[in-house]
Amino acid sequence: MDIKSYSAVELRDLILKKQVSVKEVVSLCLDRIDETEDKIDALLYIDREGALKKAEEMDKQGPDPDKLLYGIPVVIKDVLTTKGMPSTCASKMLKNFIPFYDAEVVRRIKEHGGIILAKSNMDEFAMGSSTENSAFKITKNPWDLERVPGGSSGGSAASTAACQSPISIGTDTGGSIRQPAAFCGVVGLKPTYGRVSRFGLIAYGSSLDQAGPICRSVKDAALVLSVIAGKDKKDSTSSPRPVEDYLAKMKEFKNLQGITIGLPEEDWKEGLDPDIEKRSQDFFKLLKSLGANLVPISLPHTKYAIATYYIIVMAEASSNLARYDGVRYGYRAKDANELIDMYVKTRSEGFGPEVQRRIILGTYVLSAGYYDAYYRKAAQVRRLIREDFLNSFDKCDLILTPVSPIVPFKIGEKVEDPLQMYLSDIFTTPLNLSGLPGMSMPIGIGDEVKVPVGIQFIAPPFREDLIFGSCNVIEQEIGKLPEPFGL
Ligand code: GLN
Repeated sequence: MDIKSYSAVELRDLILKKQVSVKEVVSLCLDRIDETEDKIDALLYIDREGALKKAEEMDKQGPDPDKLLYGIPVVIKDVLTTKGMPSTCASKMLKNFIPFYDAEVVRRIKEHGGIILAKSNMDEFAMGSSTENSAFKITKNPWDLERVPGGSSGGSAASTAACQSPISIGTDTGGSIRQPAAFCGVVGLKPTYGRVSRFGLIAYGSSLDQAGPICRSVKDAALVLSVIAGKDKKDSTSSPRPVEDYLAKMKEFKNLQGITIGLPEEDWKEGLDPDIEKRSQDFFKLLKSLGANLVPISLPHTKYAIATYYIIVMAEASSNLARYDGVRYGYRAKDANELIDMYVKTRSEGFGPEVQRRIILGTYVLSAGYYDAYYRKAAQVRRLIREDFLNSFDKCDLILTPVSPIVPFKIGEKVEDPLQMYLSDIFTTPLNLSGLPGMSMPIGIGDEVKVPVGIQFIAPPFREDLIFGSCNVIEQEIGKLPEPFGL
C-alpha cells in the first residue's frame, strides 16, 4: 500500500477492519522517513524500536474501536515532553534532557492508541518563523529544498508534508503551527486558548501558547483535536467546556450556504506576495460558488499586533526561561569559579543568539521605569485587538485572512534581519493575542514560486467546529495537492 495517500481517519478504519496491521503502518512510515529524512532534516529523534514494539503489542491485543487514534504514528514537536525520550526544544540547553513524564497532549494521544514515532525539529524554544534557529539542524521545505519550511514548528510541518506520518503535533505562540503548515502545503490548527492543556508544553509565552494538529486533511485535524482537547487539572488555564465530536458535527456541512465570511480590509490591501494575492482572489470566487457570503470588515487595531505581540512574548519568555540556570535542568557550563559566573556562562553558552536577544529585550520591557510604557501598554492594546475581532463576529461567522504576506523564502535569506522575520507574523499573532482559534489550509500552488499557498480561517472562541465544517467542504472542492516537488 502507498502510505502517502492515506489520511489518519482512513488508516484507522483499515486497522479496525484488520485490512492492515499496526506494524505495517509503522514500518511504512519508518520507510518513508528513510526515503525523505536526508533531504528535509525534519526530525531530531526517531523511536524506531519503541514504535515497532508498541505496534506489535497492539496487533497482538487486537484493535479497539473506542480509541480514536488506534495504531496511528504521530510526530511530536520537540517542545512537548515525552517520557523517556529526549525533549530538547532544539536547544543546547536541553540537549540531554529526558523528561520523566509525558505532556498532557502526548498522554492523551497515547491513551487513544497513537504511537509516538519521532520528535521534530523546531526553532530553539519555539522562537522563530523559519526553523533556522534550531541549535541542531536546518529543516528544508519538501516543496523546494532551498527554501525554509516556516517555523517554529517547521519540523512537524515538513515531516507531515513528506508523509513521514499522517499527523504531527505543533505548538503556536504567534503562528508557529499555521505559518509552517501554509509553507509546507498542509493543514494546521491553533485551537482556542485553553482548549488544549499546556501541561508539559515547555513554556515560551504562557498566555499565548497552544498545541495543535498539523495534518494532510481537515478531517484528521478534527480527529486529533477531539483527542487532545479538554480540561486538565494540571493546567488551570484549560477550559472545562465539554469537547465536541468534531467529526460528527462536520457532517452537517454540505456547502457554505448561509455562512458569512468577513474579509478584514486592513489585511487584503496591498503588500502581499503576488502568488498569495492571485491564489486568494481565485479562492474568493470558489467560496462564492459554494454559497458563502463575503463581507468587508475592519480590524483597526491589528496594525499594532506585531509590536504588541513581541513585547508580551519577550516579557513572558524572559520570565519563563529564567529556570535554565545550570542547576535544575540540562546544560551547565564547565569551568565557572563561582555561582554568578556559573549562571552567566551557562546561559551564554546554552542559549542561541535569538533566545538571548529575546531574554534581554523581555527583561528590558519589564524593568522598573519601562514597564508602564511597554508591557502595560501592550497589555491594553491586546485587549483592543481582541475586541476588534469579537465585534466583527456580529457581522460574520468566520474571518478570512492570509497566513503570511510572503511565500517560503530561501534558507539564509532573512537570518541577518530579525525584524524582517518578525514582520512576517502580521496575520497570525493577532489570534494568539486574542485567544481565538485559527486554521491554515492549502489553497493551491504559486505561479512564480512553485510552493504551496495557504489561507487562514478564524472563528469565535471555541468554534473550531465551524472552521472544520466549512474547511472540509472547501477541501473536497479543491482536492489534494500534488506530492511535494522537492522529494
Ligand atoms: N514567529 C513567532 C515568534 O518567533 C511565533 C513563534 C511561535 O508561534 N512559537 O515568536
